Amino acid sequence: MAYYGTVLCSTSICVQPVSPSRRAELHFMIYPDPDSEKAIMGSVVYCIHHKEGCKWTGELRKLKAHLNTCKHDAVPCTNKCGAQIPRVLMEDHLKYTCPQRRARCEFCGKDFTGHTLENHTGSCGFEPVYCENKCGMKVQRRHLTQHKAAECSKRLVPCRYCSKEFVADTLQVHHTKCGRFPVTCPNHCDASILAREDLDLHLKDQCPILGICCPFKEAGCRFKGNRFALEKHVDDNTKQHLMLMCTVVTKQQHQIVSLKSALSRLSLNYSGTLIWKITDYTSKLNDAKTKEGMELVSPPFYTSQYGYKLQASVFLNGNGAGESSHISAYIKILPGEYDALLRWPFSHSVSFTLFDQSNVPEKACNIVESFMPDPTWKNFQRPSKEPDSLGFGFPRFVSHEMLKKRHFLKDDTMFIRVKVDPSKIVAV
Ligand SMILES: [Zn+2]
Ligand SMILES: [Zn+2]
Ligand SMILES: [Zn+2]
Ligand SMILES: [Zn+2]
Ligand SMILES: [Zn+2]
Ligand SMILES: [Zn+2]
Ligand SMILES: [Zn+2]
Repeated sequence: MAYYGTVLCSTSICVQPVSPSRRAELHFMIYPDPDSEKAIMGSVVYCIHHKEGCKWTGELRKLKAHLNTCKHDAVPCTNKCGAQIPRVLMEDHLKYTCPQRRARCEFCGKDFTGHTLENHTGSCGFEPVYCENKCGMKVQRRHLTQHKAAECSKRLVPCRYCSKEFVADTLQVHHTKCGRFPVTCPNHCDASILAREDLDLHLKDQCPILGICCPFKEAGCRFKGNRFALEKHVDDNTKQHLMLMCTVVTKQQHQIVSLKSALSRLSLNYSGTLIWKITDYTSKLNDAKTKEGMELVSPPFYTSQYGYKLQASVFLNGNGAGESSHISAYIKILPGEYDALLRWPFSHSVSFTLFDQSNVPEKACNIVESFMPDPTWKNFQRPSKEPDSLGFGFPRFVSHEMLKKRHFLKDDTMFIRVKVDPSKIVAV
C-alpha cells in the first residue's frame, strides 16, 4: 500500500498539506511508539507533488530529503519578496512577477523594482504611442501635446483668411475654395489683391481695365472703355450724345402719335349716334358772346365701323341767321379712313335732338330737327384732306328763349344727340 506524502494518524487521515519541517515534528508528536513509527516510516509513498508531475517514490523517511530538492516544492523567493514559489517556477517569478525583481524600462532605460515598473509602464515619457487624433503618427508620450498642437495633420487650425477652423490636412483644399483667399484680378488692374468672393463684383463694375459701354449706348453710341476713359468720353461728347438723344426723342414722338391714334381708333364711336354732353353752359355761352365765331366741336364719330367720319359743332351764341338769339348746330363730314370705298355724295338723314331733362320722363319734350342731305351741296361730297370745311345744319336750332323753358338745361349742362340714319328717307 502506498500513501501520498500526507500524514496518517491512528483513527483518521489528515489531508491538510503541511511544510516538511513541521511534518517531522508532527511525526514525533503523533507516533510516540518507536515500532509503529519505524513501520510507517518504511512504507513507500509518492512525492507530495505527484499530481503536479513529480515522479519520485520512496520510503516515507526519505521524503523529507527529497523535498529539499524536489523541483515542485515551494521555497521562499530568493529576492525576499516573502512569496513561496515552487523551485521550477522560481526563474519565471524572479524575472516577471516578483515585486522585488530588478527591471529596466525598455523606453527610458531607467531601472525599477517590479511593482514600480508596472506603475511606470503606461506613463513613460519615452514610450512611442499613437496620436489620439488618428493621424497615424507614433510620437514619444512626452512630445504628444506639442505634436497635437503644432504638427498633427488632424489638428484643427483656423484658415488665416476666413478664420473658420479646418483639419490641418484639408486646409490646402479649403484654400482653393475659400471666399476670402487672396486672388489677383485677371485683367491685371491696380487692384492687385482681392478676396476671391469679391472678384465677380470687381469684374462687373469696379475693374478700371474693363470695357464699359457708354451710357448713351441705347441711343446709338458705340463707345466702350474703362471707367476713366468713359468719364472722359462722356465729358467730351456732350454734343454728339445730344444729337443722338434728339433722334431718339423724335422717333419716340412718332411712336407716341401712332399709339395715340391706335388708341383713339379703339375708343372710337362707330354707332352712327353721338350723345354730346355740353357742361358749364353759362361760362361757355359768355365765352361765345365775347369771342366771335366761338365754336364747340364734338368728338368725331363714325356711321359704322367702315363708314363716314362725322363731327358735330355748336355755336352757343348762334351764327349766321341765329347769331345772338339761337344755338346753331351743324354736322361736318371729316376725311375718314374708308372714304375711298364709300358712296358720295353723303346721303343719310341726320337728326339733332336737344333733350328735355325733366324728372318725369313721360312729360319730357325733346326738340328734334332733322334733314336729308342735298346731293348738290358741296359739303356732302367726299371731303378733301382740309379738315376745316363748313358743316351743314341749323343756324336757328333752338332759341335762347326756348332754352330757358322746360329742363333743357340742368346743372348747367345740356345733352345733344346727333343721329345718322341710313335707312330713313324722311326726317323724323
Ligand atoms: Zn517531488
Ligand atoms: Zn519574489
Ligand atoms: Zn520608461
Ligand atoms: Zn497626430
Ligand atoms: Zn478660409
Ligand atoms: Zn481689375
Ligand atoms: Zn457715348
